[in-house]
Amino acid sequence: MKTRSRCRELLRIETSENVELRLNTEVVDGEGDYRLQRVVLKDRDTGGTKTVDAAGLFVLIGAQPHTDWLPSEIERVGPGYIVTGQDLMQDGQAPAHWPLSRAPLLLETSMPRVFACGDVRHRSVKRVASAVGEGSITVQLIHQVLSE
Ligand SMILES: Cc1cc2nc3c(=O)[nH]c(=O)nc-3n(C[C@H](O)[C@H](O)[C@H](O)COP(=O)(O)OP(=O)(O)OC[C@H]3O[C@@H](n4cnc5c(N)ncnc54)[C@H](O)[C@@H]3O)c2cc1C
Repeated sequence: MKTRSRCRELLRIETSENVELRLNTEVVDGEGDYRLQRVVLKDRDTGGTKTVDAAGLFVLIGAQPHTDWLPSEIERVGPGYIVTGQDLMQDGQAPAHWPLSRAPLLLETSMPRVFACGDVRHRSVKRVASAVGEGSITVQLIHQVLSE
């Protein structure tokens, strides 16, 4: 489903008259007086460069969670996104090493009473508002844990 909607989006981009799609292209420089007016594009196949007019540049370079420093008890997936709450459950059961009688709380990691929120969390929405919201939820969960 996700792949199908991504294909639709790509098709929309490719068929838009006001969008020029350049594959294998790298922005290697920017030029302008006081503000950006041109970018220099490098063709990765030929190595050749071309300067084109540009009033703005939106950089979207992906993200890395950088969670290597965490202890191995904190479960992570993919490049290091921290697994929390329901995503820790296997067939409705808490993971074998989980020491508490209750299941992990919504944003609790595989280490009891340690929470993760925001972009670093597996399956988080990756938006400012949701990161802030998860932070406020975590405060409530900490109160809950402290009263256990
Ligand atoms: C190019 C780009 C454009 C975006 N545009 C939008 C947008 O238009 N709207 C929107 O809602 N969202 C947007 N986002 C997503 C949004 O920025 C994130 O969802 C949001 O910032 C997540 O907040 P966070 O607190 O979880 O993580 P972050 O904002 O990444 O904060 C994590 C902080 O932890 C610090 N840190 C990391 N490791 C350690 C460590 N070991 N010790 C101490 N500190 C550490 C980092 O330096 C960083 O300051 C965009 C993201 C990118 C990359």
